[in-house]
Amino acid sequence: MAALHELTLVQAHEALTRGDVTSVELTQALLARIAAVDSRVQAFLTVDADGALEQARAADLQRARGPSSALLGIPLGIKDVISTSGVRTTCGSNMLATYVPVYDATVIARLKQAGAVLLGKLNCDEFAMGSSTEHSAYQQTRNPWNLERVPGGSSGGSAAAVAAGEAPATLGTDTGGSIRQPAALCGITGLKPTYGRVSRYGLVAFASSLDQIGPMARTAHDCAMVLQVIAGDDPQDATCTGHPVPEYVAALTGDVRGLRIGVPREFFVAGMQPEVEAAIRHAIDVLRDQGAIVQEISLPHTQYALPVYYLIAPAEASANLARYDGVRYGLREPGESYFDELERTRGAGFGAEVRRRIMLGTYALSAGYYDAYYKRAQQVRTLIRRDYLEAFEQVDVIAAPTTPTVAFKIGAHSDDPLAMYLEDVCTLPLNLAGLPGLVVPCGFAEGLPIGLQLIGRPFDEQTLLRTGDAYQRVTDWHTRMPALV
Ligand code: GLN
Repeated sequence: MAALHELTLVQAHEALTRGDVTSVELTQALLARIAAVDSRVQAFLTVDADGALEQARAADLQRARGPSSALLGIPLGIKDVISTSGVRTTCGSNMLATYVPVYDATVIARLKQAGAVLLGKLNCDEFAMGSSTEHSAYQQTRNPWNLERVPGGSSGGSAAAVAAGEAPATLGTDTGGSIRQPAALCGITGLKPTYGRVSRYGLVAFASSLDQIGPMARTAHDCAMVLQVIAGDDPQDATCTGHPVPEYVAALTGDVRGLRIGVPREFFVAGMQPEVEAAIRHAIDVLRDQGAIVQEISLPHTQYALPVYYLIAPAEASANLARYDGVRYGLREPGESYFDELERTRGAGFGAEVRRRIMLGTYALSAGYYDAYYKRAQQVRTLIRRDYLEAFEQVDVIAAPTTPTVAFKIGAHSDDPLAMYLEDVCTLPLNLAGLPGLVVPCGFAEGLPIGLQLIGRPFDEQTLLRTGDAYQRVTDWHTRMPALV
């Protein structure tokens, strides 16, 4: 058997079920792995060793009592923008350095209900704004494949932890690509569910009409198992209702014969690294060889996704972040008056990128500019969604690159916000259209991973997972692990 920290979630579940290992042993092995490598990877902001071992002991007792859920006793890591009762939740921000939620997000409550073990909280760009995890107020998470490179972001900690063998699976969040881009850059599998598939209750809001929580793991099969537990209606989230949850693992038939795959020509953008394009096209050929029918398609409004996103996301962020006023949450910098205190608190609590977003958003929403910017962006957003819904009349899945290049060097885009924003050209449109996207590893360039992005119809995660799983049955990119030297 492979070392315990190398097991996929499925393998860990099988080992637990057979009784080859206990949850306590598995949890100890992962805590030891974190102790051994995380000083270099820097994925975790908080490790809750005592809490995890207590949950693992409870899981072992529960297993002895009879039939159990698929996640019982499985250790997982959580992006630090998701509220965990009693465990510090910083959002990668100084603003929330000492914030300890008094309640669990719905996804956390469901994981606990299923008997999962929570190892701790994972680093991210401040309030999930960024594509490299360089905007965390705390530490620089590194790409386990090359410690000089970024892991992507904003869920960089969630991706790096899986790639480095510190957790078999993690939760990330995706507002414009933050699950898919780091999954691609770290060589793991990541799923951004349909908007409304997974409850956002207890997720600290960045842009409420775009945010989704989703699983990050080594395989599509592992993602299916986590999604099964976290998906579904929640009375606490009015946008998460009315869609019954199918059996995701049962959908993994390995069969993609007759599946119609569209390849959007607009996604092969100028400036794309040739090796990335070659790996994506090769992956699509593999699916064709498995019986899928591939055709080129057009999504004509793709070029507007970036400007539309950078109006809508900051606009929503500026409204959501108004709550950090030094009175209700987190940091408070005393001042001479309410406004003085507000200014000092926000000046000390928020980093440069967050302040930039708040200013952009406030500007876009201000009287006189609202119609020209925000309203216009919402109208173009509708056109983007329409492109996809029309495409899905001809095809079942869209296959595309996730990022134009492999992971860049730490610091490469630090002085150039626009270059950083360009990282997400291939991922943002899905959030604007509310669609699900799955990323699977499909090759390497410069020793760094490349990810294929599969895009699906609303609430059709099962077809994406089936396609990703079928691909992983005949390829081995997802089985490779970095040497971490
Ligand atoms: N990189 C994008 C941004 O900075 C997306 C972030 C995300 O998906 N949370 O806004």
